[in-house]
Amino acid sequence: MIQTIRGFRDILPEDIALWQKIEKTASELFDNFGFREIRLPILEKTELFARSIGETTDIVEKEMYTFPDRKGDKLTLRPEATASVVRSYIQHKMYAADPVRKFYTIGPMFRRERPQKGRYRQFYQIDAEVFGVSSPYIDAELILILNELFKRLGLSGLKAHINSLGCPECRPVFQKALKDFLTLNYDRLCPDCKRRMEKNPLRTLDCKSLSCRKALENAPSTLGHLCNECSEHFEIVKKMLVKQNVDFIVDKTLVRGLDYYSRTAFEILTTSLGAQSAVAGGGRYDSLVKELGGKDIPAIGFAIGFDRLTEIMAQVKKSDEKPGLDIFIIAIGKQAMEPGYLWMSELNLAGIKSEMDFSGRSLKSLMKRADKLNAGHVLIAGDREINENALIFRNMNTRKQNIIPMDNIIKDIKKLLKKE
Ligand code: ATP
Ligand code: MG
Repeated sequence: MIQTIRGFRDILPEDIALWQKIEKTASELFDNFGFREIRLPILEKTELFARSIGETTDIVEKEMYTFPDRKGDKLTLRPEATASVVRSYIQHKMYAADPVRKFYTIGPMFRRERPQKGRYRQFYQIDAEVFGVSSPYIDAELILILNELFKRLGLSGLKAHINSLGCPECRPVFQKALKDFLTLNYDRLCPDCKRRMEKNPLRTLDCKSLSCRKALENAPSTLGHLCNECSEHFEIVKKMLVKQNVDFIVDKTLVRGLDYYSRTAFEILTTSLGAQSAVAGGGRYDSLVKELGGKDIPAIGFAIGFDRLTEIMAQVKKSDEKPGLDIFIIAIGKQAMEPGYLWMSELNLAGIKSEMDFSGRSLKSLMKRADKLNAGHVLIAGDREINENALIFRNMNTRKQNIIPMDNIIKDIKKLLKKE
């Protein structure tokens, strides 16, 4: 038997209601805030991710699905969406008409990580990006949107962690302080961090290994080294969140895994998913557009882990909507098959969800099937009903029955449904 690849999975019809509900809630919310949807390719040139995410990140070093196509070009299944959105913004010169743009996109990402609950090799993200606004109000707006989305989905117990990573002006001073600290504590670092220390010391703060966490407990923080502008920026973000009742904490250990972040960084954490606790993450990346060949245009964005979100929601309430249908047509005997099929199609075309069974089974077994499908009504057409031109239309909840002739059957059914 051929099965899915490790870390890949099917999202089955019984789980789709939840996925669609989240998608709908998110798109409506984005629409309210002036975001427009954008759909991008899953496959991009490897260079796009190497240059944006950073050569020494876990993603680029060991998690990307990269392969040569038949002509030898190096291609990569996108591990995240931001780089592609930025590419598209630059490629189509969207900044020319108006640099201020708000986008969202929903789709699969690919990372070759160790699969476990809440962590897959193909996973889905809901991604939002804002270009052309350097003001801290937009940072607050994005965190507000995340907060509102979770609220609309009926989730509580989620917490926004925020931090400021500084800018190219103040970060070097901090980096020097951190490097000095790491040199002093070199022996206590994990092998990965010993390596990271040289190229990107900031990332040691994010190390998940227990020994590093301990070693870095008293490490210098970015917050202690912010320049005046970064400091003011961060103060306004916090002030707006307080004014808008967004529950958050300042977390000086929060650094995002990717190279391109500056100033505000944030994550939404939950305690209900065990080790995989981040449901969403994002931050400002003011230099990325320029680094990828565009103009000097600030930007900020976030990505929500769609899979993890569905897992938290499934804990809140087990899939609420049972897939029901309006009418199950019970056609018994050869005579009823053809008209039954035509009624079913006509009802479906009219937006009245209908199904029938073509196996010619008994009334009893078909009534059972109607129950199983959670049908609201059954339409019974046996030889007798057809010969007498009197079909039975039965409401499965109230058990009320109506006898209807075949001539205007669709109209009559619509009338009866309206009356209910
Ligand atoms: P983590 O720390 O859990 O590895 P991350 O910082 O690598 O997360 P981001 O790149 O910020 O994740 O992606 C945003 C969100 O996407 C995460 O908060 C998480 O909810 C989700 N996510 C990331 N990797 C996976 C994965 N392999 N499987 C499922 N969801 C994922
Ligand atoms: Mg990760």
